[in-house]
Amino acid sequence: MRKSSEVVIIGGGSIGCSVAYNLAKKGVKNIVLLEKRYLASGSTGRCAAGFRQQWGTKTNCMISRSSAKIFKTLSEELDYEDIEYRESGYLLIAYEERQVRMLEKNLKLQNSLGIPSRKLSPDEARKIVPYLNTDKMEAAFFCQEDGHVNPFKVTFAYARAAGRLGVEIHTYTKVTGIQTRGCKIRSVVTDHGTIATDTVINATGPYAKLVGQMLGLSHPVEPERHQILITEPMEPMMGPMVMSMPIRLLPNWEMKRDFGEDCPVSKWSATINKDEFSSSIPNVSNLNSFSRRVMQYAALNVHFGQQPDRHGYVFPPWFLLPASSAWWLHYGLW
Ligand SMILES: Cc1cc2nc3c(=O)[nH]c(=O)nc-3n(C[C@H](O)[C@H](O)[C@H](O)COP(=O)(O)OP(=O)(O)OC[C@H]3O[C@@H](n4cnc5c(N)ncnc54)[C@H](O)[C@@H]3O)c2cc1C
Repeated sequence: MRKSSEVVIIGGGSIGCSVAYNLAKKGVKNIVLLEKRYLASGSTGRCAAGFRQQWGTKTNCMISRSSAKIFKTLSEELDYEDIEYRESGYLLIAYEERQVRMLEKNLKLQNSLGIPSRKLSPDEARKIVPYLNTDKMEAAFFCQEDGHVNPFKVTFAYARAAGRLGVEIHTYTKVTGIQTRGCKIRSVVTDHGTIATDTVINATGPYAKLVGQMLGLSHPVEPERHQILITEPMEPMMGPMVMSMPIRLLPNWEMKRDFGEDCPVSKWSATINKDEFSSSIPNVSNLNSFSRRVMQYAALNVHFGQQPDRHGYVFPPWFLLPASSAWWLHYGLW
């Protein structure tokens, strides 16, 4: 491991690896990325792989619109065979008038920013997802340019491209402390040695608060537990991701199985958030009857302050540390 570095990035998820690549591409030399387990071992490798532009704030809409643009050509840019970015659509279902009003307001905002989302009647929604139970449905909202992308492949693609640009990546290297003098960062301490640096990027997702505490900072980021169920491979039943507003149901039928040699967790298949699945899609109400569960787990996502997350943040250093050292907190989007 290098003894000193211009920038140390903590966290080898999609955010840390993307930041590493983009900094190196912009000409920053001597970057080290530290990951306590393997790449994508955190929230990134446990998520439902959904990607959407249907948001309710201008910032989120613009971040995801710009991300969509990047995803479209990312495989080529990173010289990676296929990150599996698929615009198979995202269908948001509303069961109450209150939700419809909120989604209509969001729709107006999205359309004003060029996001081609639209409102559908229950019958129109069923044409897109024939298995949908439309009994109590008020309306649905759909954007064909949403969909999913393989989070492992995105992370590995960024990591490899960053490596080609000279970024040094150390997996199974845990950051245990950050040393300072006055308000300046001096070095990052790991279980494999110490690296002198004055710039640290905290890309540790749900662990961001813990890592911030190493500097005596209190980031308003709270971990949140989410449930995922993974089945054995099964016939695809629907194209889009389906999300019901009250229960946040996210079936993803198309996630591919093989994540390559970089990932100890291989051979995954579809991921399904099972909570109250049966009420929306009755034909698959009893998952046990037609599909064996391969894996079920709870994983950590993040809350920002008191609000549920669903936001992407990049905090400038002055927000957190009013000094010449740079401390950046990068934070994922859902
Ligand atoms: C069940 C579930 C479903 C989700 N579904 C979606 C979805 O469909 N679409 C979507 O956009 N988002 C989804 N998300 C959210 C998404 O997974 C996260 O926003 C995103 O992966 C965050 O990436 P990250 O790189 O910031 O964090 P992470 O992937 O968690 O990476 C942080 C890394 O930091 C490492 N780390 C922590 N502490 C240290 C330390 N001290 N030293 C070294 N390394 C350290 C961790 O090991 C980890 O690998 C979901 C999340 C969950 C839990």
